Amino acid sequence: MSKLLTRDEYQRLASELTPRTQLFIDGKFVDAQSGKTFDCVSPRDGRVIAQVAEGDVADVDRAVASARAVFEKGSWSQMAPAKRKRILLNLADKMREHRNELALLETLDMGKPIRDSFAVDVMSAANAIQWHAEAIDKVYDEVAPTGPDALGLITREPIGVVAAVVPWNFPMLMAAWKLGPALATGNSVIVKPAEQSPLSMLRIAELAVEAGLPEGVLNVVPGFGPTAGKALGLHMDVDCVAFTGSGEVGKLFLQYAGQSNMKRVWLEAGGKTPNIVLADAHDLDKAAQHAAMGIFFNQGEVCTAASRLVVQESIRDELVEKIVKIGETMMPGDPLDPATAMGAIVDEGQMQRVLGYIEKGRAEGATLRLGGEQVRRNEGGFYIAPTVFDGVRNDMTIAREEIFGPVLSVISVKDAEEAVKVANDTIYGLAACIWTRDIRQAHRMARAVKAGSVWVNCWDGGDMTMPFGGFKQSGNGRDKSLHAMDKYTEVKATWIDLS
Ligand code: NAD
Repeated sequence: MSKLLTRDEYQRLASELTPRTQLFIDGKFVDAQSGKTFDCVSPRDGRVIAQVAEGDVADVDRAVASARAVFEKGSWSQMAPAKRKRILLNLADKMREHRNELALLETLDMGKPIRDSFAVDVMSAANAIQWHAEAIDKVYDEVAPTGPDALGLITREPIGVVAAVVPWNFPMLMAAWKLGPALATGNSVIVKPAEQSPLSMLRIAELAVEAGLPEGVLNVVPGFGPTAGKALGLHMDVDCVAFTGSGEVGKLFLQYAGQSNMKRVWLEAGGKTPNIVLADAHDLDKAAQHAAMGIFFNQGEVCTAASRLVVQESIRDELVEKIVKIGETMMPGDPLDPATAMGAIVDEGQMQRVLGYIEKGRAEGATLRLGGEQVRRNEGGFYIAPTVFDGVRNDMTIAREEIFGPVLSVISVKDAEEAVKVANDTIYGLAACIWTRDIRQAHRMARAVKAGSVWVNCWDGGDMTMPFGGFKQSGNGRDKSLHAMDKYTEVKATWIDLS
């Protein structure tokens, strides 16, 4: 397995890199039918690193036709699960073999530190595919508890053509959370990567065909949301959309389904995770470490970012002091340097959006304790310092809206009851953290918070065995675990009269 390289080595590799830039349809790289391309800009230095084919309605039609044809032919959808498993395990192995190349593509494309792309993104994406591959020949269907005169079979079938529309914050991983279960259960898939980050997915599609995936089972159509994304949402021959992204666009997909063929729509939308720290938390240093990682990891561009620190008043000053100290050590650096803990914001637009929220925080009266500004201006890229606002009220804009940047809002509360009230006072319900040494308190609060994931005495706990998804406007359906397979299968009830 490849090892983490030095900054110089990554820089040399980056200069030699020739990323795949065409659409991937029916097992081949092809230009967009319009011939159009768009600039792929690296947020590391603001430079154009590739011209990527711009998929649109005609290309989506072609990809859907290819996906449908292979699905009906059955060369994947009807393949024995154990055989599908072997091919997907091959793909996971190939991703790990190309660990440094994929990590480099991810880092150049969307700005995250290379050490994270290397340690987290590639490995977790490969693992997501491996986990579902390993599960697929171990999942049984059901026989209904009928009387002797009938046999009731309850079986799951692949749903057909799945469109996976994914965001830029974890381009490869968000796609893999969908590809793992969708491919393992026998579907054909079209991935529409975010326009900011198409490169890693194009390479993975190529590796998938090398791994033995039949042509047409996995297609990748880069392009813009209102064109390529919308075309998938409205397509009459797409059976299911699995989306990760903003709530705003998630709502559009529900409309597209209503305007077209009632396709299944699964949404993983945003969050405003409350990180509740009570005065009896067993280890404030650990709580501070997790709070800092919870908001500064991946530049805060994490749907479960612990963006609201809901802390009991008596320990607030001590905890905030510790978080600020950690934040000071996480100033952004060159994403290609393995020592860098925080990289670049994905693009200029997102950077301005985050800076706009920081301005609002100031204007609404929150106290800036750390950061609050653009840094590394001379590099040409898009960097924001780790930012901490104290004295935030839960009705301030920075506490209500998803910032998707390294901006922490500290909200103090008097007790556990008020903490739960504040935690639930949001349109979101993706995740929540609770820090306490009282096990009864932890259980009571875990039940009371409205969130798809609850992490006790940690941030972002869990692995592939745990389902992931949101309550309320954070979405529906679950990625990861066997529950993910529900999204990509239809239940068929076959009643056989034996009388
Ligand atoms: P986005 O909603 O703007 O884009 C997501 C995808 O939708 C992209 O591929 C984009 O091209 C496409 N899209 C955009 N407009 C569209 C339209 N009109 N019709 C069809 N498709 C369209 O989100 P983003 O800016 O890429 O990502 C950030 C958002 O993703 C954040 O809000 C974050 O919370 C969310 N997110 C959620 C999760 C989760 O699991 N809940 C995980 C990661 C990111």
